[in-house]
Amino acid sequence: MKKYILTIFIATIAITLQAQRDWSKVEITVEKAAENIYVLKGSGGNIGIAVSENGVYMIDDQFEQLTDKILAAIATVTDQPVRFLVNTHWHGDHTGGNENLGNKGTIIIAHENVRKRMSTKQFRGMGRIVEPSPPAALPQITFSDDMTIYLDSITPMMVIHVHDAHTDGDSFVYFPKQNVLHMGDTFFGGNYPFIDLNSGGSIDGLITAINKALFIVNEKTIIIPGHGNLSNRQELKTYRNVLADIRERVKTAKSDGKTLEEVKEMGLTKEWDETRGQGFINAEKIIEFVYNSLP
Ligand SMILES: [Zn+2]
Repeated sequence: MKKYILTIFIATIAITLQAQRDWSKVEITVEKAAENIYVLKGSGGNIGIAVSENGVYMIDDQFEQLTDKILAAIATVTDQPVRFLVNTHWHGDHTGGNENLGNKGTIIIAHENVRKRMSTKQFRGMGRIVEPSPPAALPQITFSDDMTIYLDSITPMMVIHVHDAHTDGDSFVYFPKQNVLHMGDTFFGGNYPFIDLNSGGSIDGLITAINKALFIVNEKTIIIPGHGNLSNRQELKTYRNVLADIRERVKTAKSDGKTLEEVKEMGLTKEWDETRGQGFINAEKIIEFVYNSLP
């Protein structure tokens, strides 16, 4: 019980810190990933932008407090307006700028479950509730599986839904000509992933999604993770192998009748904890996600 209270206490501090963040200190950086494709970092999920003569195509938009800074950063590489925005999933650190951009006339596109979750009250666990987003923030165009948007007459941008991975509304965005893949939060570069079980995410869906990405990419593909640095096929493969190993170990322990608390004590992830468990998701958390999402 003591531990439970402590967890709530820490969660409350985390939410309070988020509310008190000093946005003026956040700096937006722009990095070129390929011809006409850039990655913007600041606070929240990695933003991808593709620049064409028809406008800017944006992937995710971090927090509402950062929209002006993000648009200023985009203006350093093009004077085109942001015409389309694709949300890789519904989480606030990827969709927080939606309302601002929607009000400026940007067309927002996302999987239908993103719209469903953003338009209804969401329960994120440990008592945290996310209220429905205002109408201007909601995707205007939704899809159920995949769609292709053409940046110009010859350059496709493919939006590919993957099922029940980080959430139930995840999409990859793939630029076959430039050989760039944005994976949203199905890929946390360098760290254990957050798997949002309250939003329909699962370890099996996540591994299946990564396998799909491995099928799409080749050795030269630039991979943009939802969080972390630009990556590649080799690192993605290692990430998949780590998750698959953790899944097998936890599954065996759970099948042997071990409780979640017992599994957490077993040190099943110890060879990766120092490198991958120091971020937002530690060893206990990843074990919990895997344990709770296994049947
Ligand atoms: Zn996320």
